[in-house]
Amino acid sequence: MSGLDLVIRGGTVVDGTGAEGYIADVGIAGGKIAEIGKISPNGARVIEAEGHIVTPGFIDGHTHMDAQMHWDHLGTNSVWHGVSTVVMGNCGFSIAPMRKGKQALVARSLERAEDISGAAMAAGIDFSWESYDQYLDVVDKLPKGINHAAYVGHSALRTFVMGERAFEEEASEDDLAAMTAELTRGLDAGAMGFSTSRSLAHLTSDDRPVASRLASRGEVAALVGSMKGRKGAVFELAHEILLPGNLEGDAYWNWLADLAVSSGVATTYGVLGRFAVSQIEYIDKVTAAGGRMFGQTHSRGVSSLFSFRTAFLFDKQGAWQAFRQQPLEVQKAQLADPAVRGVLIDAVDNANYGTISGAEGKPPQWDEFYYFDKPMPPYRSLAELAAERGKAHPLEVLFDLAIETDMSALFMQYLTRASDEETVRVMRHPSSVMTFSDSGAHVSQIADSSIQTHLLAYFVREKQLLSLPEAIHLMTGRAADHWGFAGRGRLEEGYAADVNIIDPATVGPRMPEVAYDLPTGARRFSQRADGIMATLVGGEVLTENGVHTGALPGQLLRRQD
Ligand SMILES: [Zn+2]
Repeated sequence: MSGLDLVIRGGTVVDGTGAEGYIADVGIAGGKIAEIGKISPNGARVIEAEGHIVTPGFIDGHTHMDAQMHWDHLGTNSVWHGVSTVVMGNCGFSIAPMRKGKQALVARSLERAEDISGAAMAAGIDFSWESYDQYLDVVDKLPKGINHAAYVGHSALRTFVMGERAFEEEASEDDLAAMTAELTRGLDAGAMGFSTSRSLAHLTSDDRPVASRLASRGEVAALVGSMKGRKGAVFELAHEILLPGNLEGDAYWNWLADLAVSSGVATTYGVLGRFAVSQIEYIDKVTAAGGRMFGQTHSRGVSSLFSFRTAFLFDKQGAWQAFRQQPLEVQKAQLADPAVRGVLIDAVDNANYGTISGAEGKPPQWDEFYYFDKPMPPYRSLAELAAERGKAHPLEVLFDLAIETDMSALFMQYLTRASDEETVRVMRHPSSVMTFSDSGAHVSQIADSSIQTHLLAYFVREKQLLSLPEAIHLMTGRAADHWGFAGRGRLEEGYAADVNIIDPATVGPRMPEVAYDLPTGARRFSQRADGIMATLVGGEVLTENGVHTGALPGQLLRRQD
Protein backbone atom coordinates (compact mmCIF):
# COMPACT_ATOMS: atom_id res chain seq x y z
CA MET A 1 0.00 0.00 0.00
CA SER A 2 1.34 3.45 -0.82
CA GLY A 3 0.47 6.81 0.66
CA LEU A 4 1.44 5.93 4.20
CA ASP A 5 2.68 8.74 6.46
CA LEU A 6 4.47 6.54 8.96
CA VAL A 7 5.41 2.93 9.52
CA ILE A 8 6.21 1.49 12.96
CA ARG A 9 8.39 -1.45 11.99
CA GLY A 10 9.06 -4.78 13.64
CA GLY A 11 7.45 -4.26 17.05
CA THR A 12 5.17 -6.66 18.89
CA VAL A 13 1.63 -5.46 18.34
CA VAL A 14 -0.43 -5.72 21.53
CA ASP A 15 -3.69 -4.56 20.05
CA GLY A 16 -5.72 -3.61 23.14
CA THR A 17 -8.29 -6.41 22.86
CA GLY A 18 -6.45 -8.59 25.36
CA ALA A 19 -5.22 -10.90 22.59
CA GLU A 20 -1.61 -12.12 22.56
CA GLY A 21 0.91 -9.88 20.86
CA TYR A 22 2.38 -10.63 17.43
CA ILE A 23 5.23 -9.16 15.45
CA ALA A 24 4.03 -6.87 12.67
CA ASP A 25 4.51 -3.45 11.09
CA VAL A 26 1.87 -0.78 11.70
CA GLY A 27 1.17 1.63 8.86
CA ILE A 28 -0.44 5.00 9.54
CA ALA A 29 -2.11 7.38 7.11
CA GLY A 30 -4.30 10.43 7.71
CA GLY A 31 -4.21 10.00 11.49
CA LYS A 32 -5.57 6.45 11.36
CA ILE A 33 -4.22 2.92 11.39
CA ALA A 34 -4.13 2.06 7.71
CA GLU A 35 -2.54 -1.35 7.71
CA ILE A 36 -1.04 -3.95 10.05
CA GLY A 37 1.23 -6.66 8.65
CA LYS A 38 4.37 -6.80 6.55
CA ILE A 39 4.63 -3.32 5.08
CA SER A 40 7.08 -1.74 2.68
CA PRO A 41 7.31 1.92 3.63
CA ASN A 42 7.66 3.34 0.10
CA GLY A 43 9.16 6.57 1.38
CA ALA A 44 7.04 6.91 4.52
CA ARG A 45 8.81 7.78 7.77
CA VAL A 46 9.88 4.65 9.64
CA ILE A 47 10.20 4.13 13.39
CA GLU A 48 12.14 0.97 14.23
CA ALA A 49 10.33 -0.75 17.09
CA GLU A 50 12.10 -4.08 17.31
CA GLY A 51 12.14 -5.39 20.88
CA HIS A 52 9.30 -3.03 21.81
CA ILE A 53 5.58 -3.48 22.17
CA VAL A 54 3.27 -1.33 20.08
CA THR A 55 0.01 -0.60 21.88
CA PRO A 56 -2.98 1.72 21.63
CA GLY A 57 -2.57 4.99 23.56
CA PHE A 58 -3.87 4.73 27.10
CA ILE A 59 -7.26 6.18 28.01
CA ASP A 60 -7.64 7.73 31.45
CA GLY A 61 -11.26 8.30 32.46
CA HIS A 62 -10.63 9.92 35.82
CA THR A 63 -8.67 13.14 35.53
CA HIS A 64 -9.01 16.78 36.52
CA MET A 65 -7.14 18.34 33.60
CA ASP A 66 -9.82 21.09 33.40
CA ALA A 67 -7.58 23.85 34.75
CA GLN A 68 -4.18 22.52 33.72
CA MET A 69 -4.97 22.13 30.02
CA HIS A 70 -5.17 25.93 29.78
CA TRP A 71 -1.46 26.35 30.56
CA ASP A 72 0.04 22.91 29.95
CA HIS A 73 -0.81 22.12 26.36
CA LEU A 74 1.18 18.90 26.28
CA GLY A 75 -0.86 17.15 28.98
CA THR A 76 1.81 16.26 31.53
CA ASN A 77 2.16 14.21 33.70
CA SER A 78 -0.30 11.86 31.97
CA VAL A 79 1.40 11.99 28.59
CA TRP A 80 4.68 10.83 30.12
CA HIS A 81 2.94 7.60 31.15
CA GLY A 82 1.48 6.79 27.75
CA VAL A 83 -1.91 8.45 28.14
CA SER A 84 -3.30 9.87 24.90
CA THR A 85 -6.94 10.48 25.91
CA VAL A 86 -8.31 11.88 29.17
CA VAL A 87 -11.79 12.49 30.53
CA MET A 88 -11.96 15.58 32.76
CA GLY A 89 -14.64 17.31 34.80
CA ASN A 90 -14.88 14.42 37.24
CA CYS A 91 -16.47 14.55 40.70
CA GLY A 92 -18.63 17.58 39.85
CA PHE A 93 -15.64 19.88 39.32
CA SER A 94 -15.83 21.23 35.78
CA ILE A 95 -14.97 24.89 35.19
CA ALA A 96 -18.10 25.41 33.11
CA PRO A 97 -20.82 26.56 32.99
CA MET A 98 -19.86 29.75 34.76
CA ARG A 99 -21.22 33.28 35.17
CA LYS A 100 -18.94 36.10 33.98
CA GLY A 101 -17.03 37.54 36.91
CA LYS A 102 -18.00 34.62 39.13
CA GLN A 103 -15.14 32.28 38.38
CA ALA A 104 -14.15 32.30 42.07
CA LEU A 105 -17.33 30.33 42.86
CA VAL A 106 -16.13 27.56 40.56
CA ALA A 107 -12.43 27.82 41.40
CA ARG A 108 -12.77 27.51 45.15
CA SER A 109 -14.03 23.92 44.90
CA LEU A 110 -11.01 22.97 42.80
CA GLU A 111 -8.64 24.90 45.04
CA ARG A 112 -9.22 22.94 48.23
CA ALA A 113 -10.91 19.68 47.28
CA GLU A 114 -8.54 19.12 44.36
CA ASP A 115 -5.46 21.08 45.49
CA ILE A 116 -5.03 23.32 42.45
CA SER A 117 -3.59 26.77 43.21
CA GLY A 118 -6.28 29.47 43.01
CA ALA A 119 -3.67 32.02 41.93
CA ALA A 120 -2.50 29.69 39.15
CA MET A 121 -6.08 29.31 37.91
CA ALA A 122 -6.72 33.06 38.02
CA ALA A 123 -3.50 33.75 36.09
CA GLY A 124 -3.56 30.78 33.74
CA ILE A 125 -7.16 30.51 32.58
CA ASP A 126 -8.92 32.96 30.31
CA PHE A 127 -12.46 32.42 31.58
CA SER A 128 -14.11 33.56 28.37
CA TRP A 129 -17.23 31.39 28.39
CA GLU A 130 -20.51 31.23 30.25
CA SER A 131 -22.54 28.28 28.96
CA TYR A 132 -21.14 24.77 28.62
CA ASP A 133 -21.33 24.73 24.83
CA GLN A 134 -19.28 27.95 24.67
CA TYR A 135 -16.76 26.29 26.96
CA LEU A 136 -16.46 23.23 24.71
CA ASP A 137 -15.75 25.54 21.78
CA VAL A 138 -12.88 27.07 23.80
CA VAL A 139 -11.54 23.60 24.68
CA ASP A 140 -11.85 22.62 21.02
CA LYS A 141 -9.64 25.53 19.93
CA LEU A 142 -7.02 25.24 22.68
CA PRO A 143 -3.77 23.70 21.45
CA LYS A 144 -3.61 20.17 22.89
CA GLY A 145 -1.11 17.34 22.90
CA ILE A 146 -3.63 14.69 23.90
CA ASN A 147 -7.37 14.15 23.41
CA HIS A 148 -9.84 15.48 25.95
CA ALA A 149 -13.45 14.64 26.74
CA ALA A 150 -15.38 16.41 29.51
CA TYR A 151 -18.29 16.02 31.89
CA VAL A 152 -20.66 18.74 33.00
CA GLY A 153 -19.81 19.08 36.70
CA HIS A 154 -22.61 19.40 39.20
CA SER A 155 -20.88 21.97 41.45
CA ALA A 156 -20.32 24.28 38.48
CA LEU A 157 -23.86 23.69 37.20
CA ARG A 158 -25.31 24.54 40.62
CA THR A 159 -23.31 27.73 41.10
CA PHE A 160 -24.14 28.77 37.50
CA VAL A 161 -27.85 28.57 38.31
CA MET A 162 -27.98 29.33 42.04
CA GLY A 163 -24.95 31.57 42.73
CA GLU A 164 -24.04 31.70 46.43
CA ARG A 165 -27.23 29.81 47.29
CA ALA A 166 -25.61 26.74 45.74
CA PHE A 167 -23.49 26.44 48.89
CA GLU A 168 -26.44 26.83 51.23
CA GLU A 169 -29.70 25.45 49.87
CA GLU A 170 -31.52 22.68 48.13
CA ALA A 171 -32.57 23.55 44.60
CA SER A 172 -36.09 24.89 43.95
CA GLU A 173 -38.13 23.55 41.03
CA ASP A 174 -37.05 26.55 38.96
CA ASP A 175 -33.40 25.96 39.86
CA LEU A 176 -33.68 22.33 38.84
CA ALA A 177 -35.37 23.23 35.54
CA ALA A 178 -32.57 25.70 34.77
CA MET A 179 -29.90 23.13 35.65
CA THR A 180 -31.54 20.50 33.46
CA ALA A 181 -31.71 22.96 30.55
CA GLU A 182 -28.01 23.82 30.84
CA LEU A 183 -27.03 20.15 31.20
CA THR A 184 -29.05 19.41 28.05
CA ARG A 185 -27.22 22.19 26.23
CA GLY A 186 -23.89 20.72 27.30
CA LEU A 187 -24.87 17.21 26.22
CA ASP A 188 -26.10 18.50 22.85
CA ALA A 189 -22.69 20.12 22.37
CA GLY A 190 -20.86 16.85 23.10
CA ALA A 191 -20.34 16.66 26.86
CA MET A 192 -19.46 13.16 28.02
CA GLY A 193 -22.14 13.20 30.69
CA PHE A 194 -22.70 14.49 34.19
CA SER A 195 -20.52 14.22 37.31
CA THR A 196 -21.13 14.95 40.97
CA SER A 197 -19.61 14.61 44.41
CA ARG A 198 -21.44 13.64 47.55
CA SER A 199 -18.19 12.98 49.38
CA LEU A 200 -17.66 14.35 52.88
CA ALA A 201 -14.01 14.79 51.92
CA HIS A 202 -14.80 17.48 49.32
CA LEU A 203 -14.56 20.95 50.89
CA THR A 204 -14.09 24.43 49.43
CA SER A 205 -11.17 26.72 50.29
CA ASP A 206 -13.48 28.58 52.72
CA ASP A 207 -14.24 25.33 54.57
CA ARG A 208 -17.72 24.65 53.25
CA PRO A 209 -19.06 21.58 51.47
CA VAL A 210 -18.61 21.84 47.69
CA ALA A 211 -21.86 22.93 46.03
CA SER A 212 -22.94 19.51 44.76
CA ARG A 213 -23.04 18.19 48.31
CA LEU A 214 -26.01 20.44 49.06
CA ALA A 215 -28.07 18.61 46.45
CA SER A 216 -30.75 16.18 47.54
CA ARG A 217 -30.68 12.70 46.07
CA GLY A 218 -33.83 13.75 44.21
CA GLU A 219 -31.92 16.54 42.45
CA VAL A 220 -29.17 14.14 41.40
CA ALA A 221 -31.71 11.58 40.19
CA ALA A 222 -33.55 14.21 38.14
CA LEU A 223 -30.36 15.40 36.43
CA VAL A 224 -29.15 11.87 35.71
CA GLY A 225 -32.64 10.89 34.55
CA SER A 226 -32.57 13.77 32.06
CA MET A 227 -29.73 11.93 30.25
CA LYS A 228 -31.90 8.88 29.59
CA GLY A 229 -31.54 7.69 26.01
CA ARG A 230 -28.39 9.74 25.33
CA LYS A 231 -25.98 7.47 23.53
CA GLY A 232 -22.82 6.86 25.55
CA ALA A 233 -23.68 9.38 28.27
CA VAL A 234 -21.97 8.60 31.57
CA PHE A 235 -22.80 9.55 35.16
CA GLU A 236 -19.70 9.78 37.35
CA LEU A 237 -19.79 10.30 41.09
CA ALA A 238 -17.67 10.55 44.21
CA HIS A 239 -19.62 8.66 46.86
CA GLU A 240 -21.33 9.53 50.03
CA ILE A 241 -19.17 7.59 52.44
CA LEU A 242 -21.78 5.08 53.46
CA LEU A 243 -21.04 1.43 53.75
CA PRO A 244 -23.65 -1.19 53.07
CA GLY A 245 -24.85 -3.41 55.88
CA ASN A 246 -26.74 -0.79 57.87
CA LEU A 247 -30.04 0.97 57.26
CA GLU A 248 -28.61 4.25 56.00
CA GLY A 249 -25.93 2.62 53.88
CA ASP A 250 -28.28 0.11 52.27
CA ALA A 251 -30.75 2.89 51.44
CA TYR A 252 -27.99 4.81 49.64
CA TRP A 253 -26.73 1.85 47.60
CA ASN A 254 -30.27 0.79 46.70
CA TRP A 255 -31.02 4.33 45.56
CA LEU A 256 -27.96 4.35 43.31
CA ALA A 257 -28.78 0.90 41.89
CA ASP A 258 -32.39 1.96 41.16
CA LEU A 259 -31.14 5.14 39.46
CA ALA A 260 -28.74 3.18 37.24
CA VAL A 261 -31.49 0.75 36.23
CA SER A 262 -34.28 3.31 35.74
CA SER A 263 -32.14 5.86 33.85
CA GLY A 264 -30.16 3.33 31.81
CA VAL A 265 -27.24 5.76 32.11
CA ALA A 266 -23.80 4.17 32.57
CA THR A 267 -22.79 4.93 36.15
CA THR A 268 -19.18 4.95 37.31
CA TYR A 269 -17.10 5.68 40.40
CA GLY A 270 -13.90 4.75 42.19
CA VAL A 271 -13.71 1.14 43.33
CA LEU A 272 -10.81 1.41 45.70
CA GLY A 273 -9.06 -0.12 48.65
CA ARG A 274 -10.48 -2.66 51.02
CA PHE A 275 -14.08 -2.19 49.85
CA ALA A 276 -13.21 -2.78 46.20
CA VAL A 277 -14.10 -6.47 46.10
CA SER A 278 -17.53 -5.96 47.70
CA GLN A 279 -18.10 -3.00 45.36
CA ILE A 280 -17.45 -5.15 42.33
CA GLU A 281 -19.96 -7.68 43.65
CA TYR A 282 -22.48 -4.86 44.02
CA ILE A 283 -21.82 -3.78 40.42
CA ASP A 284 -22.48 -7.36 39.31
CA LYS A 285 -25.89 -7.23 41.00
CA VAL A 286 -26.78 -3.92 39.36
CA THR A 287 -25.69 -5.31 36.00
CA ALA A 288 -27.84 -8.41 36.55
CA ALA A 289 -30.81 -6.13 37.31
CA GLY A 290 -30.34 -4.44 33.93
CA GLY A 291 -28.30 -1.38 34.93
CA ARG A 292 -25.01 -0.26 33.41
CA MET A 293 -22.33 0.37 35.97
CA PHE A 294 -18.54 0.16 35.96
CA GLY A 295 -15.87 0.73 38.57
CA GLN A 296 -12.70 2.79 38.32
CA THR A 297 -9.78 0.92 39.83
CA HIS A 298 -6.26 1.95 40.76
CA SER A 299 -3.09 -0.06 40.21
CA ARG A 300 -1.42 0.98 43.45
CA GLY A 301 -3.81 2.35 46.04
CA VAL A 302 -4.27 6.11 46.22
CA SER A 303 -1.37 7.45 48.25
CA SER A 304 -0.57 10.87 49.70
CA LEU A 305 2.99 12.15 49.46
CA PHE A 306 4.49 14.56 51.98
CA SER A 307 7.73 16.51 52.25
CA PHE A 308 9.13 19.73 53.61
CA ARG A 309 9.10 21.06 50.04
CA THR A 310 5.34 20.45 49.80
CA ALA A 311 3.18 19.84 52.85
CA PHE A 312 2.53 17.60 55.82
CA LEU A 313 -0.89 17.02 57.31
CA PHE A 314 0.48 18.39 60.59
CA ASP A 315 1.72 21.70 59.12
CA LYS A 316 -1.00 23.65 60.93
CA GLN A 317 -0.58 21.95 64.32
CA GLY A 318 0.80 24.09 67.16
CA ALA A 319 4.48 24.96 66.75
CA TRP A 320 4.51 23.64 63.17
CA GLN A 321 2.53 26.63 61.96
CA ALA A 322 5.23 29.24 62.68
CA PHE A 323 8.04 26.76 61.96
CA ARG A 324 6.78 26.01 58.44
CA GLN A 325 6.45 29.68 57.52
CA GLN A 326 10.22 30.11 57.69
CA PRO A 327 12.49 29.72 54.67
CA LEU A 328 13.38 26.06 53.99
CA GLU A 329 17.05 26.66 54.85
CA VAL A 330 16.05 27.97 58.28
CA GLN A 331 13.77 25.00 58.85
CA LYS A 332 16.61 22.67 57.90
CA ALA A 333 19.04 24.35 60.30
CA GLN A 334 16.55 24.33 63.17
CA LEU A 335 15.72 20.65 62.66
CA ALA A 336 19.19 19.86 64.01
CA ASP A 337 18.19 21.36 67.38
CA PRO A 338 16.81 18.75 69.84
CA ALA A 339 14.69 21.42 71.57
CA VAL A 340 12.93 22.33 68.30
CA ARG A 341 12.43 18.65 67.51
CA GLY A 342 10.86 18.13 70.92
CA VAL A 343 8.34 20.91 70.41
CA LEU A 344 7.43 19.69 66.91
CA ILE A 345 7.04 16.09 68.08
CA ASP A 346 4.83 17.23 70.94
CA ALA A 347 2.56 19.13 68.56
CA VAL A 348 2.07 16.05 66.35
CA ASP A 349 1.47 13.73 69.30
CA ASN A 350 -1.25 16.10 70.55
CA ALA A 351 -2.67 17.07 67.16
CA ASN A 352 -6.33 17.76 66.45
CA TYR A 353 -6.90 17.56 62.69
CA GLY A 354 -10.59 18.47 62.43
CA THR A 355 -12.15 17.75 59.02
CA ILE A 356 -9.61 16.64 56.44
CA SER A 357 -10.29 17.46 52.78
CA GLY A 358 -9.41 15.52 49.64
CA ALA A 359 -5.97 13.95 49.66
CA GLU A 360 -4.51 16.05 52.48
CA GLY A 361 -3.67 12.81 54.28
CA LYS A 362 -4.85 11.08 57.42
CA PRO A 363 -3.62 11.21 61.01
CA PRO A 364 -0.22 9.50 61.04
CA GLN A 365 0.07 5.91 62.13
CA TRP A 366 3.81 5.42 62.10
CA ASP A 367 3.80 1.76 61.08
CA GLU A 368 1.88 2.83 57.95
CA PHE A 369 3.76 6.06 57.32
CA TYR A 370 6.45 5.21 54.81
CA TYR A 371 9.73 6.62 53.58
CA PHE A 372 9.12 6.96 49.82
CA ASP A 373 12.66 6.44 48.58
CA LYS A 374 11.94 4.68 45.27
CA PRO A 375 9.13 4.72 42.73
CA MET A 376 7.79 1.24 43.53
CA PRO A 377 7.15 -0.76 46.71
CA PRO A 378 8.09 -2.25 49.08
CA TYR A 379 8.59 0.71 51.41
CA ARG A 380 9.80 0.84 54.99
CA SER A 381 7.72 2.54 57.65
CA LEU A 382 9.02 5.23 59.98
CA ALA A 383 8.20 2.95 62.91
CA GLU A 384 10.46 0.27 61.43
CA LEU A 385 13.26 2.74 60.64
CA ALA A 386 13.04 4.29 64.11
CA ALA A 387 13.43 0.87 65.74
CA GLU A 388 16.38 0.07 63.50
CA ARG A 389 18.11 3.39 64.16
CA GLY A 390 17.35 3.34 67.87
CA LYS A 391 15.26 6.51 67.78
CA ALA A 392 12.72 7.25 70.51
CA HIS A 393 10.16 8.74 68.11
CA PRO A 394 9.49 8.02 64.40
CA LEU A 395 9.54 11.75 63.66
CA GLU A 396 13.22 11.78 64.62
CA VAL A 397 13.81 9.59 61.56
CA LEU A 398 11.71 11.89 59.40
CA PHE A 399 13.81 14.88 60.56
CA ASP A 400 17.08 13.02 59.94
CA LEU A 401 16.03 11.92 56.46
CA ALA A 402 14.90 15.44 55.60
CA ILE A 403 18.26 16.91 56.61
CA GLU A 404 20.19 14.15 54.79
CA THR A 405 18.32 14.85 51.54
CA ASP A 406 18.38 18.65 51.70
CA MET A 407 14.69 18.61 52.68
CA SER A 408 13.67 16.62 49.57
CA ALA A 409 12.82 13.28 51.24
CA LEU A 410 9.29 12.12 50.41
CA PHE A 411 6.99 10.27 52.79
CA MET A 412 3.87 8.35 51.90
CA GLN A 413 0.59 7.12 53.36
CA TYR A 414 -1.94 4.99 51.54
CA LEU A 415 -5.41 6.53 51.48
CA THR A 416 -6.87 3.39 49.94
CA ARG A 417 -5.14 0.06 50.00
CA ALA A 418 -5.82 -3.54 49.04
CA SER A 419 -3.60 -6.60 48.72
CA ASP A 420 -1.98 -7.29 45.33
CA GLU A 421 -4.31 -10.28 44.87
CA GLU A 422 -7.44 -8.20 45.60
CA THR A 423 -6.20 -5.40 43.36
CA VAL A 424 -5.67 -7.81 40.47
CA ARG A 425 -9.04 -9.47 41.02
CA VAL A 426 -10.81 -6.11 40.87
CA MET A 427 -8.78 -4.81 37.91
CA ARG A 428 -9.51 -7.98 35.94
CA HIS A 429 -13.27 -7.78 36.40
CA PRO A 430 -14.92 -6.83 33.07
CA SER A 431 -16.95 -4.10 34.81
CA SER A 432 -13.86 -2.18 35.85
CA VAL A 433 -11.30 0.08 34.21
CA MET A 434 -7.84 0.83 35.63
CA THR A 435 -8.04 4.60 35.52
CA PHE A 436 -8.27 6.49 38.81
CA SER A 437 -5.24 8.79 38.36
CA ASP A 438 -6.84 12.11 39.39
CA SER A 439 -4.25 13.59 37.01
CA GLY A 440 -4.24 17.39 37.06
CA ALA A 441 -5.52 17.50 40.65
CA HIS A 442 -4.05 17.06 44.12
CA VAL A 443 -0.98 18.39 42.36
CA SER A 444 1.25 18.61 45.43
CA GLN A 445 -0.45 15.82 47.39
CA ILE A 446 -0.39 12.71 45.20
CA ALA A 447 1.49 11.49 42.13
CA ASP A 448 -0.93 9.02 40.59
CA SER A 449 -0.52 10.07 36.97
CA SER A 450 1.92 7.17 36.92
CA ILE A 451 -0.58 4.37 37.62
CA GLN A 452 -0.35 3.24 33.98
CA THR A 453 3.41 2.70 34.00
CA HIS A 454 3.14 1.32 37.54
CA LEU A 455 0.71 -1.32 36.29
CA LEU A 456 3.18 -2.46 33.64
CA ALA A 457 6.28 -2.32 35.82
CA TYR A 458 4.86 -3.74 39.02
CA PHE A 459 1.98 -6.11 38.23
CA VAL A 460 3.20 -7.32 34.84
CA ARG A 461 7.00 -7.35 34.95
CA GLU A 462 7.87 -7.65 38.63
CA LYS A 463 4.98 -9.61 40.18
CA GLN A 464 3.78 -11.33 36.98
CA LEU A 465 0.21 -11.26 38.28
CA LEU A 466 -1.15 -9.93 34.97
CA SER A 467 -0.09 -10.69 31.41
CA LEU A 468 1.04 -7.79 29.26
CA PRO A 469 -1.90 -8.05 26.79
CA GLU A 470 -4.31 -8.16 29.73
CA ALA A 471 -2.79 -5.07 31.37
CA ILE A 472 -2.80 -3.13 28.09
CA HIS A 473 -6.44 -4.10 27.53
CA LEU A 474 -7.48 -2.58 30.89
CA MET A 475 -6.12 0.83 29.86
CA THR A 476 -7.18 0.78 26.19
CA GLY A 477 -9.90 -1.42 24.67
CA ARG A 478 -11.84 -1.85 27.87
CA ALA A 479 -11.68 1.85 28.77
CA ALA A 480 -12.80 2.82 25.27
CA ASP A 481 -15.76 0.43 25.47
CA HIS A 482 -16.98 1.73 28.84
CA TRP A 483 -16.65 5.40 27.93
CA GLY A 484 -17.98 4.84 24.43
CA PHE A 485 -14.93 6.08 22.52
CA ALA A 486 -15.73 4.52 19.17
CA GLY A 487 -12.72 3.99 16.93
CA ARG A 488 -10.17 4.26 19.76
CA GLY A 489 -8.47 1.92 22.20
CA ARG A 490 -7.43 -0.75 19.68
CA LEU A 491 -4.85 -1.19 16.99
CA GLU A 492 -7.03 -2.15 14.11
CA GLU A 493 -7.41 -0.81 10.60
CA GLY A 494 -9.54 2.33 10.63
CA TYR A 495 -8.93 3.08 14.30
CA ALA A 496 -7.36 6.38 15.44
CA ALA A 497 -3.58 6.18 15.39
CA ASP A 498 -3.11 6.88 19.12
CA VAL A 499 -0.15 4.61 19.74
CA ASN A 500 2.53 3.87 22.34
CA ILE A 501 5.87 2.24 21.59
CA ILE A 502 7.10 0.75 24.85
CA ASP A 503 10.12 -1.20 26.05
CA PRO A 504 8.53 -3.81 28.35
CA ALA A 505 11.89 -4.50 30.02
CA THR A 506 12.34 -0.97 31.34
CA VAL A 507 8.92 0.72 31.41
CA GLY A 508 8.10 2.19 34.82
CA PRO A 509 7.60 5.39 36.76
CA ARG A 510 10.53 7.52 37.88
CA MET A 511 10.55 9.32 41.23
CA PRO A 512 8.17 12.28 41.51
CA GLU A 513 9.91 15.63 41.86
CA VAL A 514 8.65 18.95 43.14
CA ALA A 515 8.39 21.44 40.28
CA TYR A 516 7.36 25.09 40.39
CA ASP A 517 5.98 25.26 36.87
CA LEU A 518 2.34 26.26 37.32
CA PRO A 519 1.35 29.84 36.45
CA THR A 520 2.63 32.19 39.22
CA GLY A 521 5.26 29.54 40.06
CA ALA A 522 2.88 27.40 42.12
CA ARG A 523 4.18 23.93 42.90
CA ARG A 524 3.19 20.46 41.85
CA PHE A 525 4.67 16.99 41.59
CA SER A 526 6.22 16.28 38.24
CA GLN A 527 6.73 12.61 37.46
CA ARG A 528 8.23 11.04 34.35
CA ALA A 529 8.63 7.47 33.20
CA ASP A 530 11.25 5.22 31.66
CA GLY A 531 10.73 2.90 28.74
CA ILE A 532 8.26 4.79 26.58
CA MET A 533 10.05 5.27 23.28
CA ALA A 534 7.24 7.23 21.65
CA THR A 535 3.63 8.25 22.03
CA LEU A 536 1.58 9.10 18.95
CA VAL A 537 -1.73 10.93 18.93
CA GLY A 538 -3.79 11.04 15.75
CA GLY A 539 -0.83 9.62 13.84
CA GLU A 540 1.58 12.36 14.88
CA VAL A 541 4.55 11.67 17.12
CA LEU A 542 3.84 13.66 20.29
CA THR A 543 6.75 12.56 22.49
CA GLU A 544 9.98 10.69 21.84
CA ASN A 545 11.66 9.24 24.94
CA GLY A 546 9.74 11.71 27.08
CA VAL A 547 10.64 14.75 24.98
CA HIS A 548 7.87 16.76 23.32
CA THR A 549 8.32 16.92 19.55
CA GLY A 550 6.37 20.17 19.35
CA ALA A 551 3.31 18.57 17.74
CA LEU A 552 -0.08 19.34 19.30
CA PRO A 553 -2.42 16.87 17.60
CA GLY A 554 -4.93 16.37 20.45
CA GLN A 555 -8.64 16.81 19.88
CA LEU A 556 -11.75 17.53 21.86
CA LEU A 557 -13.76 14.31 21.75
CA ARG A 558 -17.42 15.26 21.58
CA ARG A 559 -19.91 12.57 22.47
CA GLN A 560 -22.47 12.05 19.75
CA ASP A 561 -26.08 10.94 20.17
ZN1 LIG B 1 -11.80 13.08 41.18
